[in-house]
Amino acid sequence: MMKSFLMNTYNRKKVSFTKGEGAYLWDDKNNKYLDALCGLAVTSLGHSHPEISKVIYDQSKTLIHTSNAFIIKQQEKLAERLCKLSGLENAFFCNSGAEAVEAAIKIARKYGNDSEIDNPKIIVMENSFHGRTLAALSATGGEKAHNGFYPLIDGLLRVPYNNIEAIENLAKNNNIVGILLEPIQGEGGIKIPNPEYLSKLRSICDANSWLLMIDEVQSGFCRTGKWFAYQHSTILPDVVTVAKALGNGVPIGACLTNKKASKILTPGSHGSTFGGNFLSTAVGLKVLDIMKEKNLCRNARLMGTYLEQELKNKLMGFSVVKEIRCKGLMIGIELKVKCLDLVKEALNNKLVINVTKENTIRMLPPLIINKSEIDVIVKILYKIISGIRYE
Ligand code: PLP
Repeated sequence: MMKSFLMNTYNRKKVSFTKGEGAYLWDDKNNKYLDALCGLAVTSLGHSHPEISKVIYDQSKTLIHTSNAFIIKQQEKLAERLCKLSGLENAFFCNSGAEAVEAAIKIARKYGNDSEIDNPKIIVMENSFHGRTLAALSATGGEKAHNGFYPLIDGLLRVPYNNIEAIENLAKNNNIVGILLEPIQGEGGIKIPNPEYLSKLRSICDANSWLLMIDEVQSGFCRTGKWFAYQHSTILPDVVTVAKALGNGVPIGACLTNKKASKILTPGSHGSTFGGNFLSTAVGLKVLDIMKEKNLCRNARLMGTYLEQELKNKLMGFSVVKEIRCKGLMIGIELKVKCLDLVKEALNNKLVINVTKENTIRMLPPLIINKSEIDVIVKILYKIISGIRYE
């Protein structure tokens, strides 16, 4: 093995991709793979989308970056589009999901500080994932993310996901300023809460003047069959974090706010050098155009339903399969055993998947996927799951 000059932060598979097109990737030996992961919910339009390539090229010839000290008209346009799609009022642009979450946490703290709560608390969830920066990892649930990084940030109260009672029990605490959660837990194994969960949280937040902050970094942009996963309910959050698919691979994130959350940050209280520059916002606008034109929310619903049926028909017969959980094209297959090796097995069969929580196969295929590609996914999963010894 050659010496690597990279910091040792990833357990990388021994595959090096060199090219992508649509739902497919090619490695350096020219093997072709079906990509059912999208770089973790990022390349939702597929790889090398010609219109995205064109907008990157055209924008790079015109202007890539100035600074947020000046007006960036297409940043304003993208903010308007995001607000219209989400039902919220304002946007702050950054470069990643974790940064969007940082903005949300700062908004909640300042919301508290502005109303003379010096020690504001935010309710966060067990089994959650919000990113790797210090505040985002503190909000993330689980020892694995925290180990080695103590002390975590102060002011977080952790409760079990999908459990209203645990939150009601905290409501007496008058330092609480908000709740931060994923509408579906992605890294946590595609955990889908009860349908009335978000509306109950909305009522609790309204009754206590808390901010309801929804992390849509993984579940946003048609992934679950709606522009945002909270739109499967009737609620409107106060804060929404987005990133990943908005850039189809070009880094961009945003924190969207509504009403009482919109007036909290003021000049000098938050910012980002790159956030919302000409390149990333030009791409973001094009991504939204394509998602709308091609009705990709609808395709995610249709293909998600087909994939769910096929997975349940073909795989639930295996006693090792515990549960199959799907919402649109956000898919988790929980096994009764640890199955990290299945990622390698799938790669050997030219399929890109992921395993989370050690026992859950996770797939986030491109929103452009079709039935015959889904048939290939199911066939390969059938083959590799049938190879697991389980009594
Ligand atoms: N929030 C959620 C729900 C995520 O799934 C992720 C990443 O997987 C993040 C935040 C962090 O995003 P990023 O890796 O872009 O910082």
